[in-house]
Amino acid sequence: MSEYNTVIGLEVHSELNTKTKCFCGCKNEFGSNPNTHTCPVCTAMPGALPVLNRDAVERAILMGLAVGCRINNYSVFERKNYFYPDLSKAYQISQLEYPLCVGGGIEIEVDGKKKFIRLNRIHLEEDAGKLIHSNAGTLVDYNRGGVPLIEIVSEPDMSSAEEAVAYLQKLRSTLLYVGVSDCKMQEGSIRFDVNISVNKDGEPLGTRTELKNLNSFRAVLKAIKYEANRQIEELEAGRAIVQETRRWDDEKGRTYSMRSKEDSQDYRYFPDPDLIPLDVKPEYIDTIRARLPKLAPQRIEEYKSWGLTEQDAKLLTDEREYADFFEAVLKEFNEPKFVCNWITAEVFKKLNAIEDEEKKIPVNPSELASMLKLYKDGEINQAGARKIFDILWEKGGNPVQLVEELGLKQMNDTGALKEILQKIVADNPKAVKELQEGNEKTMAFFVGQAMRATQGKANPKMVADIVKELIK
Ligand SMILES: [Zn+2]
Repeated sequence: MSEYNTVIGLEVHSELNTKTKCFCGCKNEFGSNPNTHTCPVCTAMPGALPVLNRDAVERAILMGLAVGCRINNYSVFERKNYFYPDLSKAYQISQLEYPLCVGGGIEIEVDGKKKFIRLNRIHLEEDAGKLIHSNAGTLVDYNRGGVPLIEIVSEPDMSSAEEAVAYLQKLRSTLLYVGVSDCKMQEGSIRFDVNISVNKDGEPLGTRTELKNLNSFRAVLKAIKYEANRQIEELEAGRAIVQETRRWDDEKGRTYSMRSKEDSQDYRYFPDPDLIPLDVKPEYIDTIRARLPKLAPQRIEEYKSWGLTEQDAKLLTDEREYADFFEAVLKEFNEPKFVCNWITAEVFKKLNAIEDEEKKIPVNPSELASMLKLYKDGEINQAGARKIFDILWEKGGNPVQLVEELGLKQMNDTGALKEILQKIVADNPKAVKELQEGNEKTMAFFVGQAMRATQGKANPKMVADIVKELIK
């Protein structure tokens, strides 16, 4: 079956983290009591008129600029007409013919291979409310109705589930860098639709199906693999692919037909007569461009100029949170390489152990800076540093006090260490002989013995130096 190509395009819906909704003054806030952030506009009372939120437009433009889009000076809001109980107006305000941003793209890397994924557009629209199914029947919460969304539409440039996930990770990372969305997958503030088809080399594109509202990278990965295989099996069995929208059932690990896929003409789009076309002047775009924060590529260059390797710089800039954390630690302890080593080893090890796809660093950067300083100055050894780090991770604390409380102060007293080691050397003639014969691994034995004799406080480098001296 390997002679088939998989062709994947993605639509990403991302809620913008504005204070208020897209066309009214209601709060844009997740998790409030149902229907407490509603007004005549977002519940579609007759005669209520929308007023466009400038901040939503600016955030959409910021994201467009960050991924190299051209910002259209002229864009139009249209009504996308359909009925569903979570859509009080029976139309969604969106953009079709004239979106706010067009073109641009994102570079991904899978297995060391770089690929540029082109974007078709980014347009601004409003979210719908939410249906809540309960024993009492289905209830509707309109708090989310009218929350500003951007829809980021890629070209069908991805050819595997891994590429699709790499694209989504990069896109999410960019949204977080730009700071226009909080991208909380659990809360649905970022959602993915996958368009997928298969064909053979030299053949025209196959009929595509759409998988709607996936909300985790893992689901995207599994759903694409399943759906590509399903389509290939259908074709191999001599059946045609039906153009349709399919639902991914994560528990059963398969997709189901939901409905035949609608085309844009089914929605009877037309320009919203309540909203005049958007006129975004080039000078205005320039003022927004000036607010773009430092993105990953700039930070990578900066970190390299501080002596970090390209690989480390990339690891640290994978997520804005990591890069911000790294820079916050440096503000109080300016040892880029030393801090980087601790973050890429110890912090990432703990992050990897978190199962959630959204990983947060719970450590206060100044506390880590203070601990690393003690470690670098030889006040504590690596074992002590790790012990304190565990506490900083769990609940935080003052590393200087923790060193005292836990008795972790490293033993840097040459005289005392020498005394201890003289005894160890005298008690272990066999190990001494091995070391004298050049078996360097035996040194670990002496360090281990010294650690045991000092409750783990000995300075391992000093121990090695003294042992070498003693066995000469
Ligand atoms: Zn409202």
